[in-house]
Amino acid sequence: MTNNTQDQNRNETTDRYDAVIIGGGAAGLNAAVALGRARRRVAVVDAGEPRNAAAAGVHNFLTRDGIAPAELVRIGRMEAESYGGVVFEGTAASASRDDDGFTVTLDDGTRIRGRRLLIASGLIDELPDVVGLRDRWGVDVLHCPYCHGWEVRDQAIGILATGPMAVHQALLFRQLSSRITVFLHTAPALSDELAEQLAARGIAVIEGNVESVSTTDYALSAVVLTDGSVHPIQAMVVAPTFTARTAVVESLGLDVSTDPRGIGTFVESDATGLTRMPGVWVAGNVTDLTAQVITAAAAGLMAGAAINADLIAEELEVAVQAYRAAQRLPHSRQAG
Ligand SMILES: Cc1cc2nc3c(=O)[nH]c(=O)nc-3n(C[C@H](O)[C@H](O)[C@H](O)COP(=O)(O)OP(=O)(O)OC[C@H]3O[C@@H](n4cnc5c(N)ncnc54)[C@H](O)[C@@H]3O)c2cc1C
Repeated sequence: MTNNTQDQNRNETTDRYDAVIIGGGAAGLNAAVALGRARRRVAVVDAGEPRNAAAAGVHNFLTRDGIAPAELVRIGRMEAESYGGVVFEGTAASASRDDDGFTVTLDDGTRIRGRRLLIASGLIDELPDVVGLRDRWGVDVLHCPYCHGWEVRDQAIGILATGPMAVHQALLFRQLSSRITVFLHTAPALSDELAEQLAARGIAVIEGNVESVSTTDYALSAVVLTDGSVHPIQAMVVAPTFTARTAVVESLGLDVSTDPRGIGTFVESDATGLTRMPGVWVAGNVTDLTAQVITAAAAGLMAGAAINADLIAEELEVAVQAYRAAQRLPHSRQAG
């Protein structure tokens, strides 16, 4: 269905959907399911690059433990389509607003019109500039103890310190392994208090800049410092900068905010995902940088329900106006 529908609509200004959703990850697809089940016409535009694509499995999603990220998306699309949702494979380049709603333009020129807009485009993990990290990202270069900490339990785990998150991460991963080493790298020197905390938990600290991580037999094997010293490890924890994917948000003139914790950028919204622009919602990592898959999905549901409620309110207003007009008609005839 995906391809047929897509081919029919390619490069045409199609029917007006009740909602256009940009991003078909957990957040976008759960919103599509909620709206489809509310008998709303929904289009999902998805570039097919979920943030966790490099990981072998999704964890902490009840009943779905270990499912491959691509499989979760495949099933999610099927569920959205089973309620009439239409999935466009492609990248939304921009969106504009007019009296009638929104027009989303894909980078191949396809235009899709909708009464409401949900942006669930996720974020990009910007990794520290250390040779070898990107190659092992999501495998044994990690950021989140809940996503993949269990998989590296009891291993020799390095923490690449680039900022204030390092001690926090070291203490979290200490719950999973007694063999933790903090590589101070570009982080400021530790305060006496933090140094004491690490020492109290048996966490080693090594000063000096990290040049690279090396791999042996398809597994991370060591950290190499710029002074040439080599330190064996089996996993490396990093603190990426979480950069929300905001091309479409910015094309609408909406602001992108900097997270006060210094961990990245995001789009502000209320509890339902509504942005400062009426008719535009956000859900998942684009607005909540630390959302996991299940929380992103839940935020999609919240946004979907809020969009449905907003449409119901608009339709009610139209219906009431029409009803009042119809009620007035006989009286005005009588008067005439
Ligand atoms: C390595 C790694 C492992 C992880 N493991 C876990 C785990 O085990 N459990 C867990 O709960 N969480 C895990 N996470 C976190 C998880 O990836 C996020 O919580 C989740 O992906 C957020 O869902 P989302 O829908 O907001 O964004 P995404 O899943 O990133 O989906 C966004 C979608 O929007 C698309 N998109 C972006 N811009 C556009 C555009 N302009 N036009 C069209 N489409 C667009 C993208 O291609 C993508 O398909 C992990 C993260 C990483 C990095």
